Amino acid sequence: MAPPDPILGVSEAFRADTDVKKLNLGVGAYRTEELQPYVLDVVKKAENLMLERGENKEYLAIEGLAAFNKATAELLFGADNPVIKQQRVATVQGLSGTGSLRLAAAFIERYFPGAQVLISSPTWGNHKNIFNDARVPWSEYRYYDPKTVGLDFEGMISDIKAAPEGSFILLHGCAHNPTGIDPTPEQWEKISDVIQEKNHIPFFDVAYQGFASGSLDADASSVRLFAARGMELFIAQSYSKNLGLYAERIGAINVVCSSADAAARVKSQLKRIARPMYSNPSCSRLSAKDKSGKDWSFILKQIGMFSFTGLNKTQSENMTNKWHVYLTKDGRISLAGLSLAKCEYLADAIIDSYH
Ligand code: PLP
Repeated sequence: MAPPDPILGVSEAFRADTDVKKLNLGVGAYRTEELQPYVLDVVKKAENLMLERGENKEYLAIEGLAAFNKATAELLFGADNPVIKQQRVATVQGLSGTGSLRLAAAFIERYFPGAQVLISSPTWGNHKNIFNDARVPWSEYRYYDPKTVGLDFEGMISDIKAAPEGSFILLHGCAHNPTGIDPTPEQWEKISDVIQEKNHIPFFDVAYQGFASGSLDADASSVRLFAARGMELFIAQSYSKNLGLYAERIGAINVVCSSADAAARVKSQLKRIARPMYSNPSCSRLSAKDKSGKDWSFILKQIGMFSFTGLNKTQSENMTNKWHVYLTKDGRISLAGLSLAKCEYLADAIIDSYH
């Protein structure tokens, strides 16, 4: 029997719980104040347009919908970016963030044999599975410092420096999951210096563009900084969170190459990997009140959809077993799953669990 998934397994357990007080803070997904799934108005509008136009159900090309690929690359880099103008980006529509990461992992396994990927400690739970399944060796770089509840910048830099030349460095473009802690612009400069010095290849996971600052452009500045330095890089994109399109599986893998010719060849190889894997992608036309005195200011400082509460595994289990509040065992809660009405209940559960 395979163990339940650390994130989606939480939703399965939540569905099976019959207690009326139950609250699911495990999965990162928008909820209404009534805690029902929330569909954005812009999505409803687009769906209506699609129905009116009578869109067909033809297969997409292996690389996906051309108009989507153009739009997604432009959203990431900015339409005027030289990498777009010079046609140096190979963009292939993937099966959302996960599928796009998996496609890139297969590409790395095939064309960079023996290269390792460095991932942050901690990171989104599925990264390790993705690289394990693609048989790409990985190790971790220091990221989170529990003493300061902040970034272990020195540790991060020295681990990236110590990695064998030509390693892939997996970076969260913005709104780091699960910590909600991002490098500052000055720190990004330093990170890109070290990556460039060591001939490493940056590999961005952009699952929260727009979530960190509210600006799509500002949230892409980390990626754009690396592209502006003339580096070759990988960027996986997901529209699950910023458009609330969890079920549609909309995303892309972008590879910035040194020339238009290299980009065309990289794209052809990505398609070659995608075809036997899944053929073609899906159609995309488309403050807790506190009675305990504990300092909760980190919730406001951390950005993105999640809060890394600092609850350990036992405390997280108490939250679920006693209070019917579902969260991942690393203490991460999705604030999008909370309603105003449930805040006080959650605060009581957390205070009880801390003791
Ligand atoms: N990357 C990160 C950091 C994530 O948090 C997630 C989802 O939670 C994903 C990628 C992939 O999500 P999806 O496959 O739904 O696009």
